Amino acid sequence: MADDAKPLDLELADRVDKEIVYEEQEPVLYEVRNHVAYVTLNRPTQHNAQNSQMLYALDDAFVRAVDDDAVKVIVLKSEAKHFSQGHDIGTPGRDFDARVEERKTVWYDHSNKPGAEKAFAREQEVYLGFCKRWRALPKPTICQVHKGCIAGGLMLAWVCDLIIASDDAFFQDPVLTMGFPGVEYFAHCHELNVRIAKEFLFLGERMSAERAYQMGMVNRVVPREELAESVSAIAEKIARQPRLGLALTKQACNHIEQLQGKDTGIDAAFGYHHFAHAQNSLVKGDYIGGHDLKSMAKSNKAKGA
Ligand code: ZN
Repeated sequence: MADDAKPLDLELADRVDKEIVYEEQEPVLYEVRNHVAYVTLNRPTQHNAQNSQMLYALDDAFVRAVDDDAVKVIVLKSEAKHFSQGHDIGTPGRDFDARVEERKTVWYDHSNKPGAEKAFAREQEVYLGFCKRWRALPKPTICQVHKGCIAGGLMLAWVCDLIIASDDAFFQDPVLTMGFPGVEYFAHCHELNVRIAKEFLFLGERMSAERAYQMGMVNRVVPREELAESVSAIAEKIARQPRLGLALTKQACNHIEQLQGKDTGIDAAFGYHHFAHAQNSLVKGDYIGGHDLKSMAKSNKAKGA
């Protein structure tokens, strides 16, 4: 080594040894019927708050469905009170600090990284990386949404090809309250007309299934009691189409979105999102601005529709 060579930067942080209490051993359920794989979010006591445990289980379920030649279509759904209340920011099963041995992207372990690098590395994997990966699944995906589809819940719905909602469903991205320019997968301006997306973000209000349908974000709205049956009927109808034709059609549509700059925009917004995480840490001493599930649930409700 030359005399003037600087030492390698190996600055690492101590891993946080926090007790994690998982209330479900199977945070995602899996079932196949009539060539359709049903992937069910299963943290009912936490309204399907998404922790790493759930997101890795979700990835496993999607890969299982892709690998099974008998499966033609994948349905993502919830049996809980809501579809999903978003990312886990405060349940006993919150596993933000946990090291994940087998990661799915090329990102390195986040759990021993200092400062803003920790959340950046983690979200590259479990939020941005997973969303891009799931959007590219080679089989058609349908998101079946009832009640709340909030913040991180939107990310799961948006990466699916079709969204079928019940008439009691609502959609909300309230994270501007925490200082963020929307959730990590910034598809807002592709899912909605830009002016509507701004309204959705600035106000953080609930958007009803009916309005989401009018805006083109949702394919169909059906009565709650007919939701599961309607989704199965659509999924089974798609399942009768040829496999490769479906994969090619999906890829062609996704490619057009890419030509419109979807990922480029999402990548830029992800940088802003992490600037906001860092600003929160600097100003509030906490990367999510001192909020937790309770304070956000209260604030989300107060925003209304
Ligand atoms: Zn984030």
